[in-house]
Amino acid sequence: MAVIFITLALSLVALYFSVEMFPRNNVVAWYFLLFGFIGLGLSLYMLIQMRQRVLKWRLQLPPVMTIIECRKCGFKNVREFQRGDYIFKQMGTCKKCNEPLLVTGIYREIKEPKKKKEKF
Ligand SMILES: [Zn+2]
Repeated sequence: MAVIFITLALSLVALYFSVEMFPRNNVVAWYFLLFGFIGLGLSLYMLIQMRQRVLKWRLQLPPVMTIIECRKCGFKNVREFQRGDYIFKQMGTCKKCNEPLLVTGIYREIKEPKKKKEKF
């Protein structure tokens, strides 16, 4: 992360120098311009690469689930976690017995590889 910002900063400095030097020294100014654009391109490329990696990582994360349960009849509903869910939050009433439904669990669904049944 820091490397990207340093590259970006250096390329911006190089671009600035090239603009400053243009009226005085054409050759050096062109070099600075070149370096500036290469640095800019490089840092942008790295940023995009990192963004894609973060997005990929986020997509691979299993969803967080919320368990909503009726304490009286045991009616259970599992749905994806929504902002504002917390344990023991009241979530409306039970369709069966009209008792208040409570959030009884919040967990991340992790798909574990199926264990092979051992034969004896
Ligand atoms: Zn119920």
